[in-house]
Amino acid sequence: MNQDMSNITSVLRKPRKCPHCGGKVVSILYGEPTPEAFEAAERGEFILGGCCINELSPHWECLSCGHQFIRVITQSQ
Ligand SMILES: [Zn+2]
Repeated sequence: MNQDMSNITSVLRKPRKCPHCGGKVVSILYGEPTPEAFEAAERGEFILGGCCINELSPHWECLSCGHQFIRVITQSQ
């Protein structure tokens, strides 16, 4: 399989599992994490994304392969 250069897939909603490897997809938490957030991240419940977030920041990430997913906002309105 060719390597995905962008490593980010646009999705309408959180994938139940990674379409690439079938791994668990978890939310990426931005901002300053609480101690509870650190513990949950160590349990693999979500990923800590750091304090920098913008409109291009992905929302979810695969725990197995690291592929990231960003929510697309449809502009049909
Ligand atoms: Zn994956």
